[in-house]
Amino acid sequence: MIYTMGTGLKTKVKAKVLLLNPPGEKPYLRDYYCNNISKSRYLHYPVDLLLLTGTLTQSNYEVTVIDALIKKYTPAETLKKIAEIAPEYIVCLVGSISWEEDRKFLENLKILNPKIKLIGTGDIFLDDGQKIIKENTFFDACILDFSDNSILNIIEKLENKSNDKISLDNCIYNGNGSGIQAGQIKRIKGEFSISMPRHEFFPLKDYKYAFSRNFPTAHLLTDFGCAFNCSFCPIRIDNLGFKVRPVEEIIEEMKYLKSLGIKELYFRDQTFGANKKRAIELCQRMVKEGFNFSWHCFSRVDVMNEELLDAMKAAGCHTVIFGVESVNEKTLKDVQKRINAETIKNTFTLCKKKKIRRAATFIIGLPGETEEDIMRTVDFAVEIDCTFASFNVAGIRPGTEWSHNAEKVHFLPQNELEKIRNKAIKKFYLRPGYILSRISEISTPYDFNVLFEEGIGIILNLLKSVFRKEPKLASE
Ligand code: SF4
Repeated sequence: MIYTMGTGLKTKVKAKVLLLNPPGEKPYLRDYYCNNISKSRYLHYPVDLLLLTGTLTQSNYEVTVIDALIKKYTPAETLKKIAEIAPEYIVCLVGSISWEEDRKFLENLKILNPKIKLIGTGDIFLDDGQKIIKENTFFDACILDFSDNSILNIIEKLENKSNDKISLDNCIYNGNGSGIQAGQIKRIKGEFSISMPRHEFFPLKDYKYAFSRNFPTAHLLTDFGCAFNCSFCPIRIDNLGFKVRPVEEIIEEMKYLKSLGIKELYFRDQTFGANKKRAIELCQRMVKEGFNFSWHCFSRVDVMNEELLDAMKAAGCHTVIFGVESVNEKTLKDVQKRINAETIKNTFTLCKKKKIRRAATFIIGLPGETEEDIMRTVDFAVEIDCTFASFNVAGIRPGTEWSHNAEKVHFLPQNELEKIRNKAIKKFYLRPGYILSRISEISTPYDFNVLFEEGIGIILNLLKSVFRKEPKLASE
C-alpha cells in the first residue's frame, strides 16, 4: 500500500493499527491512568490514544481510531466496525473501572480475530502488568507509557519475535509459549518531544466538557506525569516521572489546532504552572501568536501567584481546576498533598479577584476521616466560594502508593461514603445563591448547555441514589 506524504515523496505504509476505546454499558472515562464514570454525561477523548496517533502516523503506520463509547457502539457493532477495518494491530485502552466488561469484550474479539495482535494500555498494567498479561492470554503485549516510543518497539517485536535486540523498556511482551518478557520501567525527568498528535482522527464535535466555554474543544498535553507525589494518585512522580515538552513544539500544535477550527483548549497537564517560568513563557507566546483560544486547566493551589494568573488570564484561561481533597490538615499531611487550608483560601481569593472560575475536586472519605470531617470539608467548599465542586468517593487505584500498601489503607464502608457524597452534593449545589450566581455567569451558548446538562445530571444522580437498592449483607 502506498501513502503520499506531504513532501511529495512516496513512502511505504506499514501495518494497519486500530486505536480502540472499547464499548461499555456506562459512560466510562478511561484516560491517562485515571478512571471514572462520567456523572453528568461528559466524555472526552482519551489522551493516551491521542498521543499514539502522532507516534504511529509519523512512523508510517496506517492509523484508525474507534471511540466506541462516544459513538455508543454496542460490542456487536464495534466488532463489525473492526471487521470492516481489518487491522493487523489493535491498541486497546482498558481501565480498572470497566475491567470486567473490557475483559469479556477483548476475549471475544480475540476468539473471532485470532490473527489480530492485541496490545493493551491503561491503568490496570501499572501495578503488576506481567500478571495481567499472563492471566489474560488474549493480550499479545502491553505498553506502560503512551508518550514515548514503546508502541513502536512492541510492534517491531511482535513482527520479529526472534529479535532479542529490540528494546522492551516500558513494554510487556507475551511470548505465548516462550514466556512473558518485560523490559525496564524507564521514567524520564526533563524535556521530551512527541510527534504531532492527530486530533482530527477523533470525532471532536461529539465530545462534551464540563468546564469548556466554547466549542469545539481539544486536549493539549504539555507535560507528562507530575512533579508531586500524593499517595492516592497514579500520576505521581514516583510512578510516571515528570517531563515537559518544549514551548515551541506546543505552539506548533496550537497552530495546527487553530487550523482545525478549535476554539477551546483543555490542558491535560496535572499541574499547569509546575514550572512557573515555562508556563508564563507559554502564555506570553499564546498572546503574541494571537490564538484567541479560551482554555481551562488543572493546577495546584501552591503553584499559583499573581504573576502567573495574570499571564494565564491574558492568554485566555477562564477556569482552573484544583485538587483540594480535604480541609483537614492531618489528612492532607497523611496523603502527602503538601497544601493547607490557608494556601487554598488565598489562591481561591486571588483567582476570584482575577475573575477566573475555581473548580475544586474533593475526595470523600480519605483514610481516618469521619462523616463529621467530610462535612467540614463541604462547608469549606462553600466558604472558599468554588465555582464548581466535584466530590469523589475515595478508593485505591492501580499505580498508587496505596495500591502497594493496600492492607494499611482503610475507608468507611462504600455505601456509607456514597450516602455522604450525595449529602455533600445537595449541600453544595442546592443553594439558591449558588444557582443564581451560576445563571448570572452564562456568557456563551455553550455555558448554557453545560449548565443545563449539569443540572439534569445532578438531579438524575440524586434520584438514582434515592431509588437504588442497597446491597444486602450476607447475614441479612
Ligand atoms: S499533584 Fe495532582 S497529579 Fe500530582 S501527584 Fe498530586 S494528585 Fe496526582
